[in-house]
Amino acid sequence: MGWDGGLDRRRQVGYIILANGLKGPKSSGTQKYTNRLKQMERETMLPTRGYAALQAGAALEPFTFERRPVGPHEALIRIRYCGICHSDIHQARDEWGGATFPMVPGHEIVGTVVKVGEAVKKVREGEIAGVGCFVDSCRTCASCSQGLEQYCEKGMILTYNGRDKNGEPTYGGYSTQIVVDENYLLQIPKTLALEGTGPLLCAGITTYSPLRHWGVGKGHKLAVVGLGGLGHMAVKIGRALGADVTVLSHSGGKRKEAERLGATEFAETGHKETFTSLARKFDFIIDTVSAPHDFNAYLELLKTDGTLILVGVPDQPMQIGAFGLILQRRRIVGSLIGGIRETQEMLDFCADHGITSDVEVIPMQQVNEAYERVIRGDVRFRFVIDLDSGI
Ligand code: NAP
Ligand code: ZN
Ligand code: ZN
Repeated sequence: MGWDGGLDRRRQVGYIILANGLKGPKSSGTQKYTNRLKQMERETMLPTRGYAALQAGAALEPFTFERRPVGPHEALIRIRYCGICHSDIHQARDEWGGATFPMVPGHEIVGTVVKVGEAVKKVREGEIAGVGCFVDSCRTCASCSQGLEQYCEKGMILTYNGRDKNGEPTYGGYSTQIVVDENYLLQIPKTLALEGTGPLLCAGITTYSPLRHWGVGKGHKLAVVGLGGLGHMAVKIGRALGADVTVLSHSGGKRKEAERLGATEFAETGHKETFTSLARKFDFIIDTVSAPHDFNAYLELLKTDGTLILVGVPDQPMQIGAFGLILQRRRIVGSLIGGIRETQEMLDFCADHGITSDVEVIPMQQVNEAYERVIRGDVRFRFVIDLDSGI
């Protein structure tokens, strides 16, 4: 059953309620009757199909659940594509701790708006919309007020592996449809190819946000560590911002692709001489690596006042020696995705620069194999699930 199956069931449920006593238009008045029909439609849960991990580390499998009815400020999105982020794998395997199951991962969602609540202004039926890593936040704290919902003091509501305001588990984009408040939807510029756009909503904004925040641009030398989903977006965006980009990779085979993406240099981190020949060369390093590695070695590649930006989230803590920082007044900073306003800015920036993600499109049924390939670094550079091909 797809999203339209849900609508079918809704009609059915409506019929049963009518048959059980709702008075028709003649006795109750047309307006009252129409209002009641509208209310019933709003109140009916939406059966949805997806793929879920039923417990930590389990293979993903078909899973049926219900989305809430579309509220006045919400839209129902029929999901067309959803990217596979390495964070999906970390969480489905509970590598960061605290995960809840069943888990339907997926936070790089693009789809068609198929229904909107009566108060919705941001999107219209038939338009394409996006959903990123969070679907709500407190809306009133200092962070939310500044458009930094990802740093919400009460905690943003994650698109999956979270709890919505009613305490219900949130389920992500490896599914046929999703209901989201319009304030947390993104408008997708028409010129962006849809398959390559989902990954902008996590990989794109996670690299765009710190590069913008730290003012990376013309005249700067930027190193990108790890050429995966985030890394290849960092190369494209860093280059579009005017920086001179070097890729530092533990896979020798990615040189050609790094150059094609816009890097002027490529160096293998498995070679010791990389760390001597590139010492003190960079103004900024953005580290996207998903596995534990030695930050100290990378600090030595920064100039005086250089900045190491951490966006990768390995599952183990790492030790940092003080000398690597104090001797050249270097700094290590972190960054988490981006707020809704900045994500919209990033989408428009990508549209202006003709940037989308390089993707390999797969059907839902291949998700477990895709996870293994991401871990092996065997994807150029993002898997995207085609939900139109059926679950
Ligand atoms: P990915 O596509 O798997 O890319 C990670 C890259 O890291 C790989 O392509 C590989 O690049 C490198 N790498 C992997 N294993 C390595 C190892 N053992 N030693 C050295 N390098 C290794 O993953 P992703 O989706 O880009 O995500 C990367 C990380 O960012 C994950 O930890 C994810 O959870 C995190 N993340 C953070 C945020 C945030 O807001 N901060 C948002 C999204 C994701 P090379 O082959 O080129 O070395
Ligand atoms: Zn992600
Ligand atoms: Zn908040």
